[in-house]
Amino acid sequence: MAGIVGEKDRISADMLYGILRGHFGFRHWWPGDTKDEIAIGAILTQQTTWRNVERAIDNLKKEGLLSINSIARCKKSRLERLIRSTGYYRQKSSRLIGFCKTISDSYGGFEGLEKLGDKEMRSALLSINGIGPETADSIMLYAAGRKTFVVDAYTKRIFSRIYGTKIDISYEEMQRLITNLIPRRLAVYKDFHAQLVELGKNNCKSVPICGGCPVASYCMHAKRNAANAGI
Ligand code: SF4
Repeated sequence: MAGIVGEKDRISADMLYGILRGHFGFRHWWPGDTKDEIAIGAILTQQTTWRNVERAIDNLKKEGLLSINSIARCKKSRLERLIRSTGYYRQKSSRLIGFCKTISDSYGGFEGLEKLGDKEMRSALLSINGIGPETADSIMLYAAGRKTFVVDAYTKRIFSRIYGTKIDISYEEMQRLITNLIPRRLAVYKDFHAQLVELGKNNCKSVPICGGCPVASYCMHAKRNAANAGI
């Protein structure tokens, strides 16, 4: 892997970001008026689309429940009704209440959690039931403004196709690989992840749509297919 995306290819990751940003435009991700809203959204978006999350967030907003301290005191049945659109709503309402209770009881709210250093904050988040690395890093990056790159299934798929990295690469290895290749700037961390999601949704789907993909001329998968087709 290092031979494929190594030091000599560092420019490629920068280029990849530049090309995606030029194509899709700055993504302004993650949407949310408050840090609490972003953290809550990061849990709601597990295993569903953002459109479904928006409906749940609207419901929570209308009921004055879009804060960690409010959800910590919310009845599970009420929360289930409000976040139903996100799927797995029973499991998610338990997770969300558990998360909010922990942050509220242990830190007095998100501002208290933010007093922790990066490592401590990540461990604290990962120790909460239902919070895995992707959700923890999303909360750290987008709500707390920490330089923690978020890896998801799109990231692994896109890097495996463009650069030939292993599709079953571990979360931590993928994260390390990317953070070694891109500038350590918060804005880049935030937007690069959003650009990869956009590429994954529009072109690099499970069956890729390489025609019109902005990075097709740099992609190993596309080049291999073109060679096989004799193009
Ligand atoms: S060219 Fe095809 S395989 Fe490569 S990144 Fe684009 S959509 Fe994915």
